[in-house]
Amino acid sequence: QAKLSGQGRYQLFETSSRDESLQSLNLETDLRTAIEQQAIAVLYQPIINLQNGQIAGLEALAHWHHPTQGAIQPGVFISLAEETGLISEIDFLVMKQAAQQLQAWQKQQLVDADLSVSLNISPKHLAQNTLLRQVDYILEETKLSPQNLRVEITESSIVFDTEFSISMLQVLQERGLKLSLDDFGRSYSSLSALQRLPVNFLKIDQSFVQGLENQPLDDSIAALIVNIARTMHMEVIAEGIETSHQLTLVRELGCKLGQGYFFSKPQAAEATLALLREKQQFF
Ligand code: C2E
Ligand code: MG
Ligand code: MG
Ligand code: MG
Repeated sequence: QAKLSGQGRYQLFETSSRDESLQSLNLETDLRTAIEQQAIAVLYQPIINLQNGQIAGLEALAHWHHPTQGAIQPGVFISLAEETGLISEIDFLVMKQAAQQLQAWQKQQLVDADLSVSLNISPKHLAQNTLLRQVDYILEETKLSPQNLRVEITESSIVFDTEFSISMLQVLQERGLKLSLDDFGRSYSSLSALQRLPVNFLKIDQSFVQGLENQPLDDSIAALIVNIARTMHMEVIAEGIETSHQLTLVRELGCKLGQGYFFSKPQAAEATLALLREKQQFF
C-alpha cells in the first residue's frame, strides 16, 4: 500500500509481510533513539549566486547515519518522522545545529555576516505552534539576525490547516525570516493558493531543471515557473543543477540563484567552511 507523504510517494509497507512491518517498527524505534541522542547530523549544500559564481547561502539537510544500516535517505526517515509525529523534533535538531554552527562561524569571523542558512520545515510542523517557539528560542539563544535564517516549505504546506499555516508564515516573515517555496511544480498546486503564500523565493523542482535539456527553452515548464515567480515578485532558485549545460540554461532563463551537484553535494560543516573560506568560485 502506497502512502502519500509531503515529499512524494514512497512505499512504507510494500507487502503486508510481518518482517517488513517489523523492520519499519525497528526503524521507528531507532529514529526515536537517534533523536534522543541527538544523532541526527546536518549536511550543508551551498546555494550559488548565478551571476557571480559565489556562495549566496546554505541549505541545511538532515542526515541520519544508522548504527547498523548506514546512511538512511531523508526521503525515508523524514516521511517516517512525519507519520509518527517525530518531525518537529528533527526539524528542531537541524535548526539548532545549523544556527549554532553559523553563530560559531560568525563569532570567529569566518563567514560574511549576511550568510543565511535555509531550514526545511515539514507541512505538519508548520501547522503547529511549536515552530514559532523553536524559532524564537533559537534566535534568542544564538543572537543570530532573523535574516540569517530562512525557512523552506513545500506547496503541500497548507494542506493541514490552511489558515493557521499561512498565519504562521506571516508571523515568521514579520520576525524577519525569509521564506522559500521548495520543490515548486512537483506536487499539485493551485496558483490561487500560491498567491496566498507569503514567500520570497520560489525553488524550481529539480525535475524541471533537468528536463530543460529536452525541450526548447522558451516552452519549458521552468520558463513558466520563472514567469510566475516574476509576476509574484519572488526570486527563483533552480534546484538540482547537475551539468554545466543545465547551468547555462537556467541562467538564460534568468534564474539568479541555483544549487545542485554540479556545484557541490551536501557536505559536513568542516568541508562547507572550507568552501566558504576559499571564496570558491563555482563557475
Ligand atoms: P529538498 O529540501 O528539496 O532538498 C534538496 C534535495 O535534493 C536533497 O536531498 C539534496 O541532496 C538533493 N540534491 C541537491 N542537488 C542535487 C542534484 O544536483 N541532483 C540530485 N539528484 N539531487 C540533488 P536529501 O538530502 O536526500 O533530502 C531530501 C528531502 O528531505 C529534502 O528535499 C527535504 O524535503 C527533506 N528534508 C531534508 N532535511 C530535512 C529536515 O531537516 N526537515 C524536513 N522537514 N525535511 C527535510
Ligand atoms: Mg529544501
Ligand atoms: Mg527541493
Ligand atoms: Mg524536497
